[in-house]
Amino acid sequence: MRLLVVEDDPDLNRQLVTALTEAGYVVDTALDGEEGHFLGDTEPYDAVILDLGLPVKDGVSVLEDWRRNERSMPVLILTARDRWSDKVAGFDAGADDYVAKPFHMEEVLARVRALLRRSAGHSTSELECGPIMIDTKGARVTVDGNAIKLTSLEYRLLSYLMHHKGRVISRTELVEHLYDQDFDRDSNTIEVFVGRVRKKLGTPLIQTVRGLGYCLAEPDDAQ
Ligand code: CA
Repeated sequence: MRLLVVEDDPDLNRQLVTALTEAGYVVDTALDGEEGHFLGDTEPYDAVILDLGLPVKDGVSVLEDWRRNERSMPVLILTARDRWSDKVAGFDAGADDYVAKPFHMEEVLARVRALLRRSAGHSTSELECGPIMIDTKGARVTVDGNAIKLTSLEYRLLSYLMHHKGRVISRTELVEHLYDQDFDRDSNTIEVFVGRVRKKLGTPLIQTVRGLGYCLAEPDDAQ
């Protein structure tokens, strides 16, 4: 899962990036509204954390422009405490949720998890596919109840496939959602990672769909 953080306070920006990275996401970052708008307009993020008070271009305008351009990723806005009018303007511009500053990082993480699972059509933080279970809260994976140790990249890969279970995901889409903007993208490496994850899981549920990509399917649907 790939996220964008748009926050002009450098300390807060860094804290958000650190916490989200530790939680298993890959994170791009912008320090002003113009850069943030550009990234959100051109890169495929799974969710965005957007401060409303931003230099160059304010957060509400950024969000309005994204929505006008049919960018539909979930957006969590950061608002000043007790500024109810900010929240209203943010929701009217297309925000999905908000957190008022100052906030506890745990709350931001919980709201991001909720946005990601809702946008993928899941109602709990635990995702299942046959014997595979991932707990997105603790970034834990089990197969038949046994804990599986994955690297952060392998976890991101499995998490993305689990969030989009039953859908064929192209290598390009995986690359775009597993790596940050600065990564030298080579979609051939994805095959290597898929192979490793399959081996660690010990189940054939991640299918290769020739010429199209990969699909994580329930055992009943597997061929
Ligand atoms: Ca700000």
